Amino acid sequence: MAEEFYCMKCRKKVQVDKFEKKTLKTKTGERAQLVGTCPSCGGKVFKFVKA
Ligand SMILES: [Zn+2]
Repeated sequence: MAEEFYCMKCRKKVQVDKFEKKTLKTKTGERAQLVGTCPSCGGKVFKFVKA
């Protein structure tokens, strides 16, 4: 299932179907992040999601 990310390089929203979920531990708790690759430029795209 594709997720919509905002690519900083392309400056537009892109649909990414390959991404992984990473959990980051911070001082304020855990934060989940989706990390994928932009299909247009090959750059990294990411966004925070609810854990
Ligand atoms: Zn891009």
